[in-house]
Amino acid sequence: MITIQGKSVFGGVSIGKLMFYKRNEKVIKREHISDADAEWKRFEAAKGQAVDQLKELYEKALEDVGEANAMIFEIHQMMLEDLDYLESIENIIRSQEVNAEYAVATTADNFAQMFASMDDAYMQGRAADVKDVSERVLDILCGVSAGVKEMTEPCIIAADDLAPSETVQLDKSKVLGFATMYGSANSHTAILARTMNIPAVIGLGETLSSQYDGKMAVIDGFTGILYVDPDEETLARMQEKRAKDLEQKELLNQLKGKENVTRSGQKINVYANIGNVSDLGAVLKNDAGGIGLFRSEFLYLENSTFPTEEQQFAVYKQVAESMAGKKVIIRTLDIGADKQVDYFNLDKEENPALGYRAIRICLTRPEIFKTQLRALYRAAVYGNLSIMFPMIISVSEVKKIKEIIAQVQAELKAEGIPYKEDVELGVMIETPAAVMISRELAKEVDFFSVGTNDLTQYTLAIDRQNQKLDTFYDPHHPAVLAMIKMAADNAHAEGKWIGICGELGADLELTEEFLKMGLDELSVSPALVLPLRKRIRECE
Ligand code: PEP
Ligand code: MG
Repeated sequence: MITIQGKSVFGGVSIGKLMFYKRNEKVIKREHISDADAEWKRFEAAKGQAVDQLKELYEKALEDVGEANAMIFEIHQMMLEDLDYLESIENIIRSQEVNAEYAVATTADNFAQMFASMDDAYMQGRAADVKDVSERVLDILCGVSAGVKEMTEPCIIAADDLAPSETVQLDKSKVLGFATMYGSANSHTAILARTMNIPAVIGLGETLSSQYDGKMAVIDGFTGILYVDPDEETLARMQEKRAKDLEQKELLNQLKGKENVTRSGQKINVYANIGNVSDLGAVLKNDAGGIGLFRSEFLYLENSTFPTEEQQFAVYKQVAESMAGKKVIIRTLDIGADKQVDYFNLDKEENPALGYRAIRICLTRPEIFKTQLRALYRAAVYGNLSIMFPMIISVSEVKKIKEIIAQVQAELKAEGIPYKEDVELGVMIETPAAVMISRELAKEVDFFSVGTNDLTQYTLAIDRQNQKLDTFYDPHHPAVLAMIKMAADNAHAEGKWIGICGELGADLELTEEFLKMGLDELSVSPALVLPLRKRIRECE
């Protein structure tokens, strides 16, 4: 097996035979001519023919890949009318008294080099375009047709690089993937591969040798790896990865943009859980309606010292802006228990899960809490942000939180720093105490989010970290479900909304039960948003 690392331009896995793209060979010779006017006319005629071909290609691309991507062939037509390009060709023909082929090839090389040496990645990508369009004129001048090899079976196309026109002319139904030695992620070939939903890796270098033509290969478009002659284990692993990816893509096709609604019309919000800004892409890709839990403690876990207000503000603002008005619920830091951070200097405890963690740290070390709250209230200006607090067990904790919020707002106001006044506030329901007093808590906040991971641990007295107890850790336990129902009833009795952000929210065996309880929201890992939407739409 040969493993070659490249750069992924489109995810997905493709498995099949490698076929090297072969172009019709033409040799461009420098020839002396005696009639420069006639040679220039010969070029103009070829250029006219090339423009006609590009018009046809534009129509084909319009159908296959849409207007935005078809534009490239209009740009190619414009390149052929570019005065600098034409002047260069005419000047070479007349001053050097040489054939049009040589003048076009030389101009193409010069222009491509000029583009490639520019700082701007977009302009660098144009080097491939000027070569592509010049090749077209050269084919016409040399009397050869553009080189598309007949494809008898679906295969992975390998090439040094593929020009946009070469890409669009391939029989899409037979292309499993693209693997190229060179190319940039901004090239139109890369853009077309993404639009055509075809896994692609570029920049594989010269290790991608044409001696592999006809061999079995796998493109892992997620990691940018090309496997040639994969061994059994790799092939099996890649087949499984491909099956999962196809299943997810199928779900996306069916369900993207659809409502989370049952057959009888009951609606529920499906949001996503994240730990980091890098998860945002997955949230948007999987069409989540919002972020139901941003575990902000990951910011602290990834840092070697307390993240500053500015650092936090930048992250929260980015998340709020990226979600463009959709709800973003940020949970204040939940450090302690299994999430230990050295610079917090927490004492070693006998029972960390029952110890000094989450809101207990925030309320006793308000300087840490206030920094986070300042960042959150400032970021709230940039989107639809809500704040929720973990491990709540009493109304007095909520009252203390509100006092601290009032101080933070007063300080921001005095400093003239913009912030949002009325941010939605919620508490996590993850202790039996919170469930039992949920009617009182509901009077104090705007929403509840049930943390079933901890609620199960504290209800069943089972350490969620202890593997030996896995068979006893039963989140379907009637006591846990009764707790969720009680919290839901109390939230609704006070006109507040309630969701689940613990793992149980994604348990499809319980979706129907949660709908019956009248839960308003379920927040799950991004990849589980669409399977959950599917399940909801199957429920009565
Ligand atoms: C929970 O306890 O269910 C929860 C969502 O919080 P975490 O898993 O981060 O403790
Ligand atoms: Mg928890």
